[in-house]
Amino acid sequence: MKPFDYRRADDVAAAVALLSRDREAVFLGGGTNLVDHLRLGVATPGLLVDITRLPLDRIEELPDGGVRVGGTVRNSDLAADPLIRERYPVLSQALLSGASGQLRNLATTGGNLLQRTRCVYFQDVTTACNKRVPGSGCSALEGYQRYHAILGASPDCIATHPSDMAVAMAVLDAVVQVTGPDGERAVPLGDFHRLPGDEPQHDTVLRHGELVTAMDLPALPDGMTSLYRKVRDRASYAFALVSVAAALDVRDGVVADVRIALGGVAHKPWRAARAERELRGAPATDDSFRRAAEAELSAAQPVAGNAFKVPLARNTLVATLRELTGRTPR
Ligand code: SF4
Repeated sequence: MKPFDYRRADDVAAAVALLSRDREAVFLGGGTNLVDHLRLGVATPGLLVDITRLPLDRIEELPDGGVRVGGTVRNSDLAADPLIRERYPVLSQALLSGASGQLRNLATTGGNLLQRTRCVYFQDVTTACNKRVPGSGCSALEGYQRYHAILGASPDCIATHPSDMAVAMAVLDAVVQVTGPDGERAVPLGDFHRLPGDEPQHDTVLRHGELVTAMDLPALPDGMTSLYRKVRDRASYAFALVSVAAALDVRDGVVADVRIALGGVAHKPWRAARAERELRGAPATDDSFRRAAEAELSAAQPVAGNAFKVPLARNTLVATLRELTGRTPR
């Protein structure tokens, strides 16, 4: 492992200043992803700026009925919070489906959002990977593809984003609060993660020195109930092959409103806008759900090793909507 310096920041301004002065500095939150990368040689920072003591560990109600989640709130605390369980069950379910209890006790909300792909080649420094070393090639194109993208990929990278939490936040229309050297800004979650294009080394639109201070969750409209469903190779401690976060409002048998995001299928949480359009105003039936899923998946471009994910995503989406139909709104 390459030696690095360590500093603990006492406030947000100091953390941002420390990072801004040093191109080789990175923030250290729970470390559940970064420390692995230090050991593997995937990340070689010169300085770690510890942000775990910053006052960003609160979950607070906002005056508009939403909830603000601090960037260093631990995943286990967020999943167990009564406000989150009551108002955003999809988020609590997504968090509890991710990683292990020990990891959730350490992992932070901001870090979860910023975790990097688990593509095996990204984590193996002996292989070519455009995300790790731009321009070196993509070993996955002729390699192991089971966990890779079927939507929005590029010839340079077919990796997926591994977070469950971010998929739930996408369906909740979360807004990421960021502080950086140029001040504060708010980024809608849908614009926060990038598709790979020809710059797969950039996972998000975050600039160097910018810190995720909070995520704001707007209130779900009255009548909407939400659910997270995850399909994986084993019952726990596995990343999603496909996941679905959905929020649904059915009135008199008709879909009054719906939001859908897919996980495990793209370089970012995939908001299923086509499926949503297809469903609004349609009868809440299996036929409608299937048509909507097919509309969304018509854009899929799987590779040989993950073609199975297209019917898997379609069926998981239909099953999720079916389960939500008839549930008591909350
Ligand atoms: Fe690297 Fe992306 Fe190719 Fe994986 S899919 S090897 S992360 S470039």
